Amino acid sequence: MVGTVLDLDLPAPALTAQLCDLASPSGKEGPLADAVEAALRTAGHLTVDRDGDTVVARTALGRPSRVVLAGHLDTVPVAGNLPTRLADGVLWGRGTVDMKGGVAVALRLAAHVPTPSSDVTYVFYDNEEVEADRNGLGRVARQHPAWLAADFAVLMEPSSAAVEGGCNGTLRVAVELTGIAAHSARSWMGRNAIHAAGPVLQRLAEYQPATVAVDGLDYREGLNAVGISGGIAGNVIPDRCEVTVNYRFAPAKTEAQALDHVRQVFDGYDVRLLDTAPGARPGLDRPVAAAFVAAVGGQPRAKVGWTDVARFDALGVPAVNYGPGDPQLAHADDERVDIAEIEVCETRLRAWLAG
Ligand SMILES: [Zn+2]
Repeated sequence: MVGTVLDLDLPAPALTAQLCDLASPSGKEGPLADAVEAALRTAGHLTVDRDGDTVVARTALGRPSRVVLAGHLDTVPVAGNLPTRLADGVLWGRGTVDMKGGVAVALRLAAHVPTPSSDVTYVFYDNEEVEADRNGLGRVARQHPAWLAADFAVLMEPSSAAVEGGCNGTLRVAVELTGIAAHSARSWMGRNAIHAAGPVLQRLAEYQPATVAVDGLDYREGLNAVGISGGIAGNVIPDRCEVTVNYRFAPAKTEAQALDHVRQVFDGYDVRLLDTAPGARPGLDRPVAAAFVAAVGGQPRAKVGWTDVARFDALGVPAVNYGPGDPQLAHADDERVDIAEIEVCETRLRAWLAG
């Protein structure tokens, strides 16, 4: 079967439509990765590498600095919203927002900016929309960290063409309560573990989450119960209860510091760590990041929610989100993007890369 041939000379909105119409839900990025790799290999100024369904292309001009433009190739499952359709300057369909508009812009820049002022590494990766251990960017970071070495990274996730810096970290703990089981007809023989959760919930209800400024952006924290379990039958005093708590913490804290904080909040209780992911500092104090913000314009804001910028931060590469599309429309059945926003992103990034 002959694969799709991408035309990187198409205007970015039309290329976005072509990318979306080649559906690529997570785990099925192969044909799209093949097409991306083939298109990039025709550009003589790029070195192209591939790992699984992740394609990495870079310039090697010997510039003093290097930047990354990255985007994931996968989407959430199609929901009857392909093929794309264009109406009144709006492109509708799966992937138009998250995030093939950004991928189209990156592909166009890769093909058409042969002599950028910084060297550029373009990363197109698989499996972002699924469990973290399948993430193609994470895999490349583990197996080929040199491919991602850079001074600054732009993740082209939808941000309505505004710069969104860094992200909060996240961790979950279980607060464990114990009691003594008994028949509920003789409840005085036992001690109720669910009742023991009351003061834990009270501490959560009274908790005042902080807003923390990091590198000039404000990160709003949150500490919340996200689950509670206990009880084995309708006539048994429960001897166990567990409250699951999620802490979203500003990137001023490490994961260890965040866990310390949660342990302090629940001082006197058994706290068990379930999982954790670090935040990412926006790094906007670095000259290379400041130059980016100056070039694309607008007021940077803190990213709400964890994103793959944290994977770059873990490699020592400050990263921001910047891309076309309203993030609130990502994954929606009526996913759609203003094609003017795609063009704005391309124009601004092209000016930035030209230096
Ligand atoms: Zn995305």
